[in-house]
Amino acid sequence: MATTAREIDVARAREAVSRAIDEAANDLIALSTFIHDNPEIALEEVRASAACADFLAARGFEVERGVAGLPTAFAATVGTGAPRIAYLSEYDALPGLGHGCGHNLIAIAGIGAGIGLAAALPSLGGAGQVNVYGTPAEEAVGGKVIMANAGIFDGVDAALGAHPGASDAVCPTVEGSGQALACVLMRISFHGQAAHAAADPFNGVNALNAVIEVFNGINALRQHIKPDARIHGIITHGGDVPNVVPHFAQAEFFVRAATLAGMNSLVEQVRRIAEGAALMTGARLELEMPEEANSDMITNYTLATRLSQHIASSGLALPEAKPEPGSGSTDWGNVSYVVPSVETSYPILDRICTWHSRDVVEASVSPLGFANTLAVARAMALTGIDLIAEPELLADVKDEFARAKAARAA
Ligand SMILES: [Zn+2]
Repeated sequence: MATTAREIDVARAREAVSRAIDEAANDLIALSTFIHDNPEIALEEVRASAACADFLAARGFEVERGVAGLPTAFAATVGTGAPRIAYLSEYDALPGLGHGCGHNLIAIAGIGAGIGLAAALPSLGGAGQVNVYGTPAEEAVGGKVIMANAGIFDGVDAALGAHPGASDAVCPTVEGSGQALACVLMRISFHGQAAHAAADPFNGVNALNAVIEVFNGINALRQHIKPDARIHGIITHGGDVPNVVPHFAQAEFFVRAATLAGMNSLVEQVRRIAEGAALMTGARLELEMPEEANSDMITNYTLATRLSQHIASSGLALPEAKPEPGSGSTDWGNVSYVVPSVETSYPILDRICTWHSRDVVEASVSPLGFANTLAVARAMALTGIDLIAEPELLADVKDEFARAKAARAA
């Protein structure tokens, strides 16, 4: 069989992106408005995920719904072969607030980029896949964590996403920026022995004392942990009444560190403190980690730098990235350990404001919010073109990914 020469025409591919996103703009805004007006919280995004999946299916994507055992997750694909470029969408709302984090915009940023790059594929030599993933429950269990563990992102060559922010939003192009802390929930329970707190306390084993010793131990540890690590907790059960020695007490802590390995070593230290508290009090320790850990975010700066150039050329002027470590955690982190990743931020407000607020609910359906989201979608699609058309760029991205992972394993 004769092979046909595969022609790559980047100029035509770029035109196809612009045309596809311009033509779909009104429909994308309508989709985002629908998600905004029908807010659904984590794992309950039934209408939002269906609307996104239907939108992509109607535009030629092959859509698999309910991936990774998550009914509101989906995987949408166009094209064949390599490389595989993925865009990640979110759509969960906040309880009692609605879309106070702008995830209705994240939904169409990913979908807009996906349909843009899909339209460009015929001008890119015919090989390459576009994947759009619907990733639920970012605000709760972290759908991306579950999807990454299920191998959904295996084989993807690069993953891009965008999260709205205030006027100080940046694309993380400088080493040290765009990072997030690894994070895990530790639930520490103690089982003691109830007794009358005045009549025969000597027959009791005080589970609350054990919890208090855990707090004391962690506070002593605090002097010796890295400045970017965080250990913060509450007592979820401290007894029932003051005249009964508490037979059961429980605390929950989030343990965070700059890397997954650093977090794991802190978890071990907290475990030993809890074991010590059990030994001191005679209460029995039960230690659970009921949720999967969030990995730290390994931002790929080669990828982010190219994306930021396309964001700038789309007319969106973002502030310079600074090498400041993040203090939050995100389920993107787990994707970033599997696939070279960037999650850019971009402004939907012309001022700085409190996030997870009414201000954000309003900005998430504002003309500025939609205009900037579509600009970022276009920039993500154009970056996808570069990754397919310039094998050396993708090689650099993968090189950096391998080095960043090796540095964390050292
Ligand atoms: Zn968010």
